[in-house]
Amino acid sequence: MSFDYDLFVIGGGSGGVRAARVAAGETGAKVALAEEDRYGGTCVIRGCVPKKLMVYASEFPETIAAGRAYGWDMQDADFDWSVFRTRLHAELDRLEGIYRNLLNGSGVTMYDQRAHVADPHTVELADGTRITARHILLATGGRPVLPQVDGIEHAITSNEMFLLDELPKSILIVGGGYIACEFAGIMNGLGVKTTQILRSDQILRGFDNETRGFVADAMRGRGVDLRTNVNVVRIEKTDTGLSVTDTNGDTHLVDQVMYATGRRPNSDNLGLDALGVELGDRGQVIVDDYSQTAVPSIFAVGDITDRANLTPVAIREGMAFVETVFKSNPTKPDHDLIPTAIFTQPEMGTVGLSEEDAAARGPIDVYTTSFKPMRQAFAGEQEKVFMKLVVCQTTQRVLGCHIVAHAAGEMIQLAGIAIKMGATKADFDKTVAVHPTMSEELVTLRNPTRRS
Ligand code: NDP
Repeated sequence: MSFDYDLFVIGGGSGGVRAARVAAGETGAKVALAEEDRYGGTCVIRGCVPKKLMVYASEFPETIAAGRAYGWDMQDADFDWSVFRTRLHAELDRLEGIYRNLLNGSGVTMYDQRAHVADPHTVELADGTRITARHILLATGGRPVLPQVDGIEHAITSNEMFLLDELPKSILIVGGGYIACEFAGIMNGLGVKTTQILRSDQILRGFDNETRGFVADAMRGRGVDLRTNVNVVRIEKTDTGLSVTDTNGDTHLVDQVMYATGRRPNSDNLGLDALGVELGDRGQVIVDDYSQTAVPSIFAVGDITDRANLTPVAIREGMAFVETVFKSNPTKPDHDLIPTAIFTQPEMGTVGLSEEDAAARGPIDVYTTSFKPMRQAFAGEQEKVFMKLVVCQTTQRVLGCHIVAHAAGEMIQLAGIAIKMGATKADFDKTVAVHPTMSEELVTLRNPTRRS
């Protein structure tokens, strides 16, 4: 049977674009891709990239303050949101152009419209065109979900944060995950009066307890009004903004309410149910270790599968799919020991097991340190950094590394290599310190803080 294409990819985000261009560029496969919105997906258009640029924008007040301590005659400065926003969107346009060029250069045919799956080898575009393909790859990502709350229509999500006409003077952020915590730091840094409320007793559920507690304290120290064990009852519009009533009976009068209460895979209206593609309870496409769905010609990568919802993971899954299907080299994407950074302020970098998870598996030694880094100490700042190694008592392997510090994301990338290779505590100790740095503390942790 002949097909129009060897591969049809639905979704032009990190996973889909990578799979499409590697399949076309490296294996000579005939590939098409449909994207209904902008190329680059969540990461480039409404996620990692604009978020990180906003983090950079929000860090200047502390740089200015530190500059004064270092002898610079620096005055407090005003932030012009419209200038930043214009430049931000010009940058996103540039990056989207690069994504399009990469696809073009690899010979991928692009359809700028929505597509759904009509049968195991046919995709139907929004304009009714039907296209056949030997393989179909679902890479449509995910989207924010909003709970049912009275007045929820007045709230925005992270998607809209990059499109605001004006910077609010005050904001209430709901949620305690990556997105809520990152935006709380950004808004606070930009001078917006920031309140963050979450329904549980600590931010960043699932991460190492001590480490997330350290981040929460530091966020409070920087001015975020972080409140736990509380949720929103209703949101009402007022003449001047929004009035939010919470479960403690407190009222918050704010300009904006942003919800970051989780994301859901974009698996709706793709025609999947009818075909027998299995979906999980959160709408995620169920795939095997090779990203293959219950329908053999249909694969899925990235957030639509809700495995580890991170750009580099989606890219890995896309690459593994191409290896498996187009290079006759069955390859499972590796989801073990994924290093990750949460761009809170201060930043958190983490890889491997939390102390709690490691302790549940066997006896461990825990090494911690907390200190004022040189740069901050000189500037008279109070905030400390925190570092932690979780070590298996039996094998002496480092099972987890957790860092809260400026540039913790950069540090954890490198610590992640050692830990992925199976480094022991002795390997860390054998490594000569780079002096004077913060990360040298990771190789000079002499005695366990505790054993359990
Ligand atoms: P998360 O799943 O991380 O957090 C959701 C938060 O919302 C939790 O605090 C949860 O509380 C709370 N919540 C859920 N439902 C409700 C509700 N009905 N009412 C009130 N609160 C609720 O989601 P995010 O949206 O923050 O992030 C989604 C994913 O995006 C992350 O898991 C991550 O994979 C990815 N991401 C990665 C980033 C990075 O790498 N730096 C940055 C941003 C996102 P509870 O804990 O009680 O369930």
